[in-house]
Amino acid sequence: METSRKNTVDLEEFYAYIEHVRSYNDAVFEATAKTPKAYARHYGCQQNVSDGEKINGMLLHMGYVLCESPEDADLVLYNTCAVRENAEDRIFGNVGALKHAKSQNPRMVVCLCGCMVQQEHIVEKIKKSYPYVDLLFGTHAVKSFPKMLYSRLNGESRQFDITELKGEIIEGLPVFRDGAVKAFLPVMYGCDNFCTYCVVPLVRGRERSRDPADILNEAKALVDNGYKDITLLGQNVNSYGKNLPEPINFSSLLKKIAGIDGDFRIRFMTSHPKDCTRELIDTIAAYDKICKHIHLPVQSGSDRILAAMNRRYTRADYLALIDYAKEKIPEISFTSDIIVGFPGETDEDFEDTLSLVCKVRYLSLFTFLYSKRVGTKAAEMDDNATSEEKSRRFQKLLDLQQEIGSAKYAELIGKNIRVLAEGTGKTGDEYLTGRSEAGVIVDFIGPKEKIGEFVNVSITGALNWAVLGEINNESRDK
Ligand code: SAH
Ligand code: SF4
Repeated sequence: METSRKNTVDLEEFYAYIEHVRSYNDAVFEATAKTPKAYARHYGCQQNVSDGEKINGMLLHMGYVLCESPEDADLVLYNTCAVRENAEDRIFGNVGALKHAKSQNPRMVVCLCGCMVQQEHIVEKIKKSYPYVDLLFGTHAVKSFPKMLYSRLNGESRQFDITELKGEIIEGLPVFRDGAVKAFLPVMYGCDNFCTYCVVPLVRGRERSRDPADILNEAKALVDNGYKDITLLGQNVNSYGKNLPEPINFSSLLKKIAGIDGDFRIRFMTSHPKDCTRELIDTIAAYDKICKHIHLPVQSGSDRILAAMNRRYTRADYLALIDYAKEKIPEISFTSDIIVGFPGETDEDFEDTLSLVCKVRYLSLFTFLYSKRVGTKAAEMDDNATSEEKSRRFQKLLDLQQEIGSAKYAELIGKNIRVLAEGTGKTGDEYLTGRSEAGVIVDFIGPKEKIGEFVNVSITGALNWAVLGEINNESRDK
């Protein structure tokens, strides 16, 4: 059995480097009476954004203020995504555009981190073709950022670190969260599933779970600090806790968090259907604090394609799970991820996907055109469909979902639902905005003092991106 290998990083040394950078910046910027500015952009999934909150925490501790434009910045950082090729192309474009900015401000430090730069072939390309990138650290080396930055500021050569952690979890890094209402809370890192199209297991390493006590302490602190919407994060939360010295499953973790006193709600993502248990659905049903919504990526409705993707469930397994959840929790809603144009997908396979979407009736879908990723099994598979065929399928899926989504939004008219007021709305001056338990955007008429609170909203209209309503004081419908 694997033992917990927490904090192999020396936190004293970590915070010492933070102080070194801060003193360095104080000395350099004192003369100009300016504060050093950092421009940091975090791309991709919630896990990457959550890593970004740690990186922002470090930047603030090191004396930087965050700014909105790379041209104004003394440090530019791109926290990258590798899931699809267009995400990588965008980063190369952004980095290319820094060449000029850096020639105007030679003191600018350019940093790259995240999933894309955890890949050897990308590191080689950066080393060779982007000489103005000063430091690059992979997903396992976030904790080395202050040390690498300090070395570079002191005139050492360009810094690269993509060494992989072997099962360790790093606790105790600073976190700076955007906003004070919603929070991401990682419960595990990495992925062991090796879906054949996916680069994540290659760039984020093997599955490792945080100690439940650390998660609970962080959740309690979030609730004490007024956060009202907590999203538990992991690539496959349903396999949480398997390898801990004292194994525990995800349902038990959810129950512990739902047992914390306070007015808040809990979400989680992502649930892999192969590990989504009836026990988990029963747990969602039993606790008011757990949102009645599951993001359950199906990827395809064809058994042939699911097998080629190595998803390890069938269409029938998936639909049986959905039926069980609908029976247990009639008001439950589902969202999903679907890949169109996986190698070998035929029109018939695609029709199976459409029919599954009609059966489940998702509230919304994240749809992706298959993108070939270096080092994955699917990259070796024959891919005969033309890009025109794939685009045609993609559009068909979008149209179908648009129809289903609009009908589902229209069904909400006349209902009274609980919404967390997050800020001012787009629809007009008197509007606030927030989300329902299911994640539907709700723009509603209400006073600004309600921001940060749960309110009951009567739904009066539906757009294709949101529903409209106004606050009322009656208790909510389910
Ligand atoms: N761990 C999550 C997903 C992480 S990646 C899960 O298993 O559901 C987010 C989504 O990106 C995936 O669900 C998939 O739909 C999509 N995706 C991943 N790799 C892809 C690729 N090579 N091409 C197109 N879409 C991809
Ligand atoms: Fe990728 Fe599959 Fe792991 Fe999700 S479960 S991160 S899709 S390999």
